[in-house]
Amino acid sequence: MSGPEGRGPELPDGVFRTDAETVDAHRLDRSGWVPEGRPFGVALAESVADVRAVLRYAHATGTPVVTRGAGTGLSGGAGATDGSIVLDVSRMNRITEISAVDQLAVVEPGVITADLDRAAGAYGLRYAPDPASVAISTIGGNIATNAGGLRCAKYGVTRDSVLALDVVLADGELISTGHRTVKDVTGYDLTGLFTGSEGTLGVVVGATVKLRPVPAATATVAAYFDDVASAAAAVNAISAAGLQPSVAELLDAATLAAVEEVTGPDPRRAGRAAGAFLLIQADGSAAEAEARQIHAVLAAHHAQVFTAGDDAEAARLLDVRRRALPALERRGRALIEDIAVPRSRLAEAVEEIQRIAKTHAVPVFTMAHAADGNLHPIIVVERATGTDSGTDSDSGGGAQGAPDGDLGANVWAAADAIFTMALGLGGTLTGEHGIGVLKRKWLADDLGERNLDLQRRLRAVFDPTGILNPGKAV
Ligand SMILES: Cc1cc2nc3c(=O)[nH]c(=O)nc-3n(C[C@H](O)[C@H](O)[C@H](O)COP(=O)(O)OP(=O)(O)OC[C@H]3O[C@@H](n4cnc5c(N)ncnc54)[C@H](O)[C@@H]3O)c2cc1C
Repeated sequence: MSGPEGRGPELPDGVFRTDAETVDAHRLDRSGWVPEGRPFGVALAESVADVRAVLRYAHATGTPVVTRGAGTGLSGGAGATDGSIVLDVSRMNRITEISAVDQLAVVEPGVITADLDRAAGAYGLRYAPDPASVAISTIGGNIATNAGGLRCAKYGVTRDSVLALDVVLADGELISTGHRTVKDVTGYDLTGLFTGSEGTLGVVVGATVKLRPVPAATATVAAYFDDVASAAAAVNAISAAGLQPSVAELLDAATLAAVEEVTGPDPRRAGRAAGAFLLIQADGSAAEAEARQIHAVLAAHHAQVFTAGDDAEAARLLDVRRRALPALERRGRALIEDIAVPRSRLAEAVEEIQRIAKTHAVPVFTMAHAADGNLHPIIVVERATGTDSGTDSDSGGGAQGAPDGDLGANVWAAADAIFTMALGLGGTLTGEHGIGVLKRKWLADDLGERNLDLQRRLRAVFDPTGILNPGKAV
C-alpha cells in the first residue's frame, strides 16, 4: 500500500492486514479499556526492515502507530486507537545469542519472557525479571513497561537487566543504545529512558539483557498473621535484620478467603482465622540459613510459620499466591491497580485501602510485592448472575470486554481515593504496569506540572509529529 496520492513510502508487502479477524484480534490489551473507533490496520512485522518501513510510512502520512507485543498490558497501552496502525512485533521472536562468559542474551522483541529464561537455563543462567505474565508476555513489552515481578525484591525491575537496545525511531531511523559491558556511563542513559517509555519514544527491535547464575538453592517460608499490620511489620523487620528475600508476597484476608474458596482452608492452620498470608523465598548458597532467620523473625511477630521441607511443599505454598488472581476473576471483573509506597508505609497503605473499600462500598482485594512496597489493590465488580469468565489459570488478566465507563462511579471514586492515598504516603501511581491510558488523569498529581511538561517536551524530541502511541503514557 502506498503513501498519500500513491507517492512516498509504502507499507511493506505481505505484512499489512485490514481484515476484520486480524484487526479484532489486535484491538485490546488485558486492561479492559476499549478504544473508540477502529484502527486503520495491523502490520505483522517479521524484521527490522518491516518496522522501519511501517514507521517511514506512518511518519510521512501522520498515521498513529500503536506498537504491540503480546497485548497482556494492564493499563491500555497497547489498545488500538482510531485510525492507527497496530505494529505487532511478536513474530520477531528469535533469541540470537546467549553468552555464558558475558552473562547476557541478545533477543528480538517478540521473545516470550519464559522462553528466554528457559533457554538461559541450559547455560546455568536465568533472566531474573519474572512478571506473573512471564509465560505470555514479550521481552519487548516488558522493556516498554519496565515490568516488575516476584523476584524484584532481590533482582530489581526490568530496567536493572537491560544493557543495550536497538530502537527504530519515529521517522524510521535505527539507533543503538548502551553496550555489552557491565559498566557504561558514556552519554545520557537512553537505554534507561526507552525502558518504561510505553511505545512513545521508539520501537524496540532488539535487546541485550543481563543474565544471572541460577541460584544454588532456594528455600520457601510461609506465614499466617492475625492482621496485615503484623505481616507488614515482619517484612520490615526482615529487611532491618539485613536479610534479602528474593520473593516476599503478601495477601490480605479478603484475597486469602477468595483463594481458600477454591482450594479449601490450609489444614495446617488448624482452624485459626488468618488476617494475612505472607510467602517468602530466600535464594543462593546461604538460602537455608537465611530461611531459618526469616522463620525466627516471622515467629517473633506472632505468625504461624511453615518452612517448606521439599520442592513439592514449596510449590504448594507458592500456589496460594499463584491462584489469587484467578480466584478473584471467578467472582467478577477485576480492575487491577498497581500503586507503590515506601516500604515503611506498606501497612498504612493496606489499612487505608480497606477503609476506602468500606467508604465507597466496593470490594477491594489486596496483594502486594511486600518487599518492594508495590501493592495491587484489585477492585472486583461482581458479574451478573449466569455469566462466567471461564478463567481458571494464572494466565487470566485484567478486566475485559466492556468500556471502563461500565464499572460504575463508585469504582472510579474508590480508584481515585486509592491513587490519592498512595501519593499522600510518598508513593506513586504505578509500580510496574505503566500509565497507559487508565492512569493519565492522575499523572500531574504524581509528577507535578513542571516535571510533566519537561517529559512532554522530551517526548516531542523523539517524536516531533506525535505518531507514537498518542494519548498514552505522558
Ligand atoms: C495475568 C497477568 C499477570 C501480570 N503480571 C504482571 C506482573 O507481575 N508484573 C508486571 O509488571 N506486569 C504484569 N502484567 C502486565 C503485562 O504482562 C506487562 O505489562 C507486560 O510487560 C506487557 O508485555 P506485552 O508483551 O504483553 O506488551 P503489550 O501489552 O503488547 O504492550 C505494553 C506496552 O508496551 C508497548 N510495547 C510493546 N512492545 C513494544 C516494543 N517492542 N517497542 C516499544 N513499545 C512496545 C505497547 O505499545 C504498550 O504501551 C500481567 C498481566 C497479566 C495478564
